[in-house]
Amino acid sequence: MSIIINNSSRTQQFIQKELAYSAHNYHPLPVVLERGEGVYLWDVDGNRYYDFLSGYSAVNQGHCHPKIVGALIEQAQKLTLTSRAFHSDLLGEYAEYITEYFGYDKVLPMNSGVEAVETALKLARRWGYDKKDIPVDQAKIITVEGNFHGRTLNVVSFSTDPASREGFGPFMPGYEVIPYNDLDALETALKDPYVAGFLVEPIQGEAGVYVPDDGYLAQAYDLCKQAGVLFIGDEIQTGLARTGKMLACDHEGVRPDILILGKALSGGILPISAVLADDEVMLCIKPGEHGSTYGGNPLACKVAIAALEVIKDENLVERAEELGVYFREQLHQLNHSNIKEIRGKGLLNAIVIEHVDTDAAWTLCLALKANGLLAKPTHGDKIRFAPPLVITKEQLDDCIRVIAKSLEILG
Ligand code: PLP
Repeated sequence: MSIIINNSSRTQQFIQKELAYSAHNYHPLPVVLERGEGVYLWDVDGNRYYDFLSGYSAVNQGHCHPKIVGALIEQAQKLTLTSRAFHSDLLGEYAEYITEYFGYDKVLPMNSGVEAVETALKLARRWGYDKKDIPVDQAKIITVEGNFHGRTLNVVSFSTDPASREGFGPFMPGYEVIPYNDLDALETALKDPYVAGFLVEPIQGEAGVYVPDDGYLAQAYDLCKQAGVLFIGDEIQTGLARTGKMLACDHEGVRPDILILGKALSGGILPISAVLADDEVMLCIKPGEHGSTYGGNPLACKVAIAALEVIKDENLVERAEELGVYFREQLHQLNHSNIKEIRGKGLLNAIVIEHVDTDAAWTLCLALKANGLLAKPTHGDKIRFAPPLVITKEQLDDCIRVIAKSLEILG
């Protein structure tokens, strides 16, 4: 089982330069991209690909969406950054728009996803001290095995992925990690009166699109309520229409006490993230206690409003739901012996590859690339399939053909 990587010398030159001067903290597929539009990406040799990663679900609205790019250009020529030392004419408008969109009292704007996670954790701890009378420095947050919430030292402190943690200690105390999808474990952990929050991804994206049992989120939420603990939903990857609902928590009618958004909040244009909560939680943080130079900048406000409008204007929730069902059906119909499992919701899906050898998923991704589709393995034997939500049924059919053809490489 082998695949010839037929890269041009031009492609090799770009890769060599990157390797020479950029840190080796990723292991990209050997393709060099220079242009994107909608569901497509083009490499430096002019080859066109379907994008089945969508910037880890940041590009739900499709590459270089004209409305979002238009908002960016218009605002970039007017005002980009004030810092929060001053007010801007857009922060109030954006805050009103996003809080009404998701039904919360307040938003706290940040930039990257992990910063929003950090913000949510700080908020939960502060709420625990102010409102739940947890003794100083005793607040605990419950998290789950297989989690992925980003890469800061605090956040990797409760990761269970050795690659995220090893060699980075000492770690931050105050976390208890329980099994995912295990309500008994949650019930037991919640008995500790010093627990302030339960942090969870409604579907574990990086873990390989691990969908919990039906009812898990709703019951976890109820358990948190009974225990007086904040339910913190990390919807950075699952939110914003990706799973066929505006939020993945909507599948079970759960409204997180603290909602974390990122990625597609800008449609892949800028790092924009947000934490949403009601006043009882959000107003625990006072002036000077948290912030970020770029958080809530006018450019981000304008871009985020446009990105959120596109999700509604183009019915991306409904599209993701309908096409997701169709996509999984089509994958099942391939009935391929090397696909051990197909799982997902909406257009956040993954296949688990039968272990032909340890490189099987990587080899399949190289074959997919050779046939015009870009996807990336996650955790060895899993490949995530997450195209931009603007994909059409015809394009999806084309992608199924590419996947079927590429699977031949596994025999
Ligand atoms: N949380 C979840 C669920 C994610 O999937 C990610 C990124 O993949 C993050 C947080 C971190 O976001 P960022 O890479 O923007 O810091």
